[in-house]
Amino acid sequence: MKNLLKELNLNPPYYNTSSGQEHWTGQGKKTVVIKSPVDDNTIGSIQLTDKKSYEAIVETANSAFKIWKAMPAPQRGEIVRQFGDALRKEKENLGKLVSYEMGKSLQEGYGEVQEMIDICDFAVGLSRQLYGLQMHSERPNHRMFEQWHPLGIVGIISAFNFPVAVWAWNAALAWVCGNVCIWKPSEKTPFSAIACQEIFKNILKQNNLPEGISNLVIGDSEIGKLMASDQNIALVSATGSTRMGKDVAETVGKRLGKSILELGGNNAIIVTEEADLNVAIPAIVFGAVGTAGQRCTTTRRLIVHKSRYQDLLEKLKEAYKQLNIGDPLNETNHVGPLIDTDAVKAYLKTIEEAQNQGGQLVYGNKVLEGEAFKSNCYVTPTIIEANINMEIVKHETFAPILYVFPYDTLKEAIAIQNNVPQGLSSAIFSQNMQHVETFLSNSGSDCGIANVNIGTSGAEIGGAFGGEKETGGGRESGSDSWKAYMRRQTCTINYGKGAQLAQGIIFNV
Ligand code: NAD
Repeated sequence: MKNLLKELNLNPPYYNTSSGQEHWTGQGKKTVVIKSPVDDNTIGSIQLTDKKSYEAIVETANSAFKIWKAMPAPQRGEIVRQFGDALRKEKENLGKLVSYEMGKSLQEGYGEVQEMIDICDFAVGLSRQLYGLQMHSERPNHRMFEQWHPLGIVGIISAFNFPVAVWAWNAALAWVCGNVCIWKPSEKTPFSAIACQEIFKNILKQNNLPEGISNLVIGDSEIGKLMASDQNIALVSATGSTRMGKDVAETVGKRLGKSILELGGNNAIIVTEEADLNVAIPAIVFGAVGTAGQRCTTTRRLIVHKSRYQDLLEKLKEAYKQLNIGDPLNETNHVGPLIDTDAVKAYLKTIEEAQNQGGQLVYGNKVLEGEAFKSNCYVTPTIIEANINMEIVKHETFAPILYVFPYDTLKEAIAIQNNVPQGLSSAIFSQNMQHVETFLSNSGSDCGIANVNIGTSGAEIGGAFGGEKETGGGRESGSDSWKAYMRRQTCTINYGKGAQLAQGIIFNV
């Protein structure tokens, strides 16, 4: 897995193989070494961005904004189109890098890059559709309409589990809307971010545009906090844990800045008595074990009608036995490693706590050992029979642990589903129209995403993505999510001769 960055044809100072190792300088004093969770080998070292270099980056971004916002939106779309094309060319290398650095399966690594390509295509079309409405004025000879302007600098804080796609969701939209971006990727997956930044920088260079349209800062939460408190950052789009989101919301809120928050999930699937298990089982297994349970949309809870409960549990156990765990770059494997050994500790602790609270272990609870698992990050996907009194099921543990509950009535199933602080994704498997429509009604799922006969993970970029409650309420990607990246201006023009006030107010002077 050596030289992935070299294969991507990146330029110094972002990487340097003269020392035999990749190295990126963020100009700061502190250096960290990045190892792959796949095999514990070093990918490279990173000199973290410090406060001083962060401030210089903000200055560069502010000057680039003046040039970028002056370009017509369809021309900005053309730059994003070129970026999408470059990603098509680099899909294989970039997908491999994402897979190696984060530990997700190669197919999912490619899938992440495909999501970036898709959002670029979406943004190109959007660049000609940043529509404002026109309203009828109550005053004669007046015209009233609204228009949308860019915000300025959009700060993007992203999580380790989607090292590149979430940035692209934000950046592609932010760019066509006329903003410039500063990206702080997770300090656990910086090389995938460096690769993306380099690919986009080449496009900017080819078009004689300033590099400051896209900026990268690499650091831990301290740099994220700096961004949240910085008046220069008009919008902070933060993806990560609820703990992080609460902190960002408070800091950005204090300065009355804008934020988009995409935080933790605790997603459930309801399987009704009329569900087609041939459709449900693959979706449940992929939802629960895909990305080793490290998706915000991972299926963490399964709520099954009691008439199907035992049968489904047996079938799930059989399916889990078929799973191959190992090197995610080997395409015959289904489950790769967790991101680090801290995540393994959290997995073990959660299973122990679940058992203490009355949960029954059905499958899993193992850390794999041996040469093939030398990073000590490989765990067995786990199934636990749970009950509604267990506090632990309300928490998101970023690992492949699935809690299974029996239910009697659909009302009860929906209540179990909604009885968690998070509200990201949800699904029902049923051929019963009344059950499906009840689940989708306003007495049904309280989540931002509600699927029917589809699992909780694997959203398409065309829809608005995000969730309610402690998931943060933000929306990204498709539909009209672009509006969060712009400021709305309502304009009224008086093209008549006289002066008229609204609401018929008379004010003679
Ligand atoms: P994390 O919260 O530890 O870190 C996410 C990012 O926030 C990192 O870049 C980190 O450096 C930064 N950060 C941490 N504390 C901060 C603070 N106080 N101020 C500013 N920045 C801060 O999350 P993680 O472990 O990287 O990712 C897993 C979490 O992300 C899970 O909870 C998952 O559900 C969530 N997630 C949500 C979505 C979504 O769209 N809802 C998508 C992906 C991941």
